[in-house]
Amino acid sequence: MIRVGVLGAAGRMGRTVCEAVAAAEDLEVVAGVDRAHPGERVAGIDVTDRFDALTEARAEVAVDFTHPDAVMENVRWCLGNGVHAVVGTTGITAPDLDEIRSLTEGDETPNAVVAPNFALGAVLMMRFAAEAARYFAAVEVIELHHDRKADAPSGTALGTVGAIEGERSSAWRGPDAETLDGVRGGDVDGVRVHSVRLPGLLAHQEVLFGAPGEVLTIRHDSTDRISFMPGVLIAIRAVASRPGLTVGLEPLLPTR
Ligand code: NAP
Repeated sequence: MIRVGVLGAAGRMGRTVCEAVAAAEDLEVVAGVDRAHPGERVAGIDVTDRFDALTEARAEVAVDFTHPDAVMENVRWCLGNGVHAVVGTTGITAPDLDEIRSLTEGDETPNAVVAPNFALGAVLMMRFAAEAARYFAAVEVIELHHDRKADAPSGTALGTVGAIEGERSSAWRGPDAETLDGVRGGDVDGVRVHSVRLPGLLAHQEVLFGAPGEVLTIRHDSTDRISFMPGVLIAIRAVASRPGLTVGLEPLLPTR
C-alpha cells in the first residue's frame, strides 16, 4: 500500500483524487489538507488545514491540486519533510521547476512529478502537436477552460508550446496588426495562445496548424475530472522510483 496525502483535498480536483486513491487497491488516502474546508469529510478522511497531518499520518506521497499562489510553498514543505510530491497545480514557472529540481537532487531527498495535464488524451495531443510542428511552421493554440480557473494561459498551453518549440522547422508569427488590444492573443515564445473562459467548459484545447490550402486541427476535451485520474495514479505509483524531478506524464507512460 502506498500512503497518500492530498493537498487541496476539498477542492474540485482534490476530491476526485481522494476518491480515486481510495478506490485503488494498492493505494490508501491517509491525509487530506485544505486551507478552505477543514473539518469536511472526503473519501472517508477528515480534511484538516494542518500540513503536519501528512507526516503524522506517515504519507509517502503528497498530491497537490491547490492554487498557483500556494503550490511552491507546499512543494517546499513536502520535499523538506521527506514526502514525495505529485504536482498537478498549474502556474509553475521554469525557475520554479529549477528550484524543485535542485530540491530533489541528492541520494536521500524525495522525488517530484510535475505535470500540467494528467489526461492521457492531452498528453497525446501534445505529442501529436510536436510531431505536426516538424511539418507546419504556422501554429496557434486555443485553450478553453471553466470560468473559475485561476491562471491564463493554462499550463497545458504552455506545455504544448514547449513541446512544439523544439520541433518547429522555422519560426512563424503571423500578422501582429490589431485594432483592439490583445485580440490576437498572447505571445508565448513566438506562438499565439488564446485563452477562453466560460461556465460550461471544463478543460479543452485546440492546436491549429496552417499551410497553403489546408488546416490541421488537433483537439482534446476533458469533459469530466475523472479524465485526469489514471495519470495521477500512474504518477503516485511511479514517483518513489524516479529520482529527481520528472516533468509531464509522458515519461511515465508504458512504451510498446
Ligand atoms: P479548486 O476547486 O479551487 O481547489 C483547490 C483547493 O485547494 C481549494 O479548496 C483551495 O482553497 C485549496 N488550497 C489553496 N491553497 C492551499 C494551500 N496552500 N494548502 C491547502 N489547500 C489549499 O481548484 P481545482 O479546480 O481543483 O484546481 C486546482 C489546480 O489544479 C489548478 O491549478 C488547476 O489549474 C489544476 N488542474 C490541473 C490538472 C492537471 O491535469 N494537471 C487538471 C485540472 C486542474 P481556497 O478556496 O481557499 O483557495
